[in-house]
Amino acid sequence: MKDVNFLTFDIEEWFHANYKGIEGLQFCAKDTNLERNVDILIGMCARYNTQATCFILGDVAEQKPQIVKKLHSAGHEVASHGSSHKIISTMSSKEFEEDLYKSVDTLEQITGEKVLGFRAPSWSVNATSLEWFYGVLSKQGLRYSSSVFPAKHPMFGIANFPKEPSYPNKYGIMEIPQAITDIIGFKSGYAGGAFLRLFPNWFIKRNIDNANRKNRPVFLYLHPREIDADEKRLELSLIDKFFHYYGVSGCQNKFEDLLAQYSDTFMRMDAFEAMYRTS
Ligand SMILES: [Zn+2]
Repeated sequence: MKDVNFLTFDIEEWFHANYKGIEGLQFCAKDTNLERNVDILIGMCARYNTQATCFILGDVAEQKPQIVKKLHSAGHEVASHGSSHKIISTMSSKEFEEDLYKSVDTLEQITGEKVLGFRAPSWSVNATSLEWFYGVLSKQGLRYSSSVFPAKHPMFGIANFPKEPSYPNKYGIMEIPQAITDIIGFKSGYAGGAFLRLFPNWFIKRNIDNANRKNRPVFLYLHPREIDADEKRLELSLIDKFFHYYGVSGCQNKFEDLLAQYSDTFMRMDAFEAMYRTS
């Protein structure tokens, strides 16, 4: 069987993040580089003739619907990243339901198509929220989630969670978990966000190839701000600043090199789930 991987983007503004010290602060979405950066990502996908799954924040869709329209008309999947980047594990099931409903409704009104996928902000589904998380997705008519870091990590994650796509609930919702690797006993991601900016591409490729040899698909993930050294920046502690901004200036080239190698393997997550469901 041909190797399958996914190209995913989390479409949000430069200030959508969940660090201590910035909660409750108000930021302005006017005059940001988001639309320009999304245009760059759309152009990059077109060069490699490949389609992405885009987890778009409801607040962004409300304020800048043209971004959703552009991604949709370029053939990319429009999925939900929630409404306002709230951490799932701090919400009740009712609060999450409202947050999810609002984002799904906004996206569907813009594209006229059903939203099938969801990604939690900051990998924030934990073992406690798992009790109601998939039930809420199912109630909204979703088919899959790409929200779990399947191991314990200092900032997030669920221990003993399946490492490959599966249906880990009674609702028929597929989970496509983040790909992880073992670095001297420490479980780490490698295929997106800070991990992708930190690790060299030879290491990332070796891990993707190892996963593919075991028939495990890997999703790459990237935020528009990660290819833009000129975008405004959050004031963060030294350590948070490091993980949030390290390697931003070289990230676009690095990402494009991964696209060049894996573009033939990418499929949209909705198509993957549909294939799995019927096979
Ligand atoms: Zn996010």
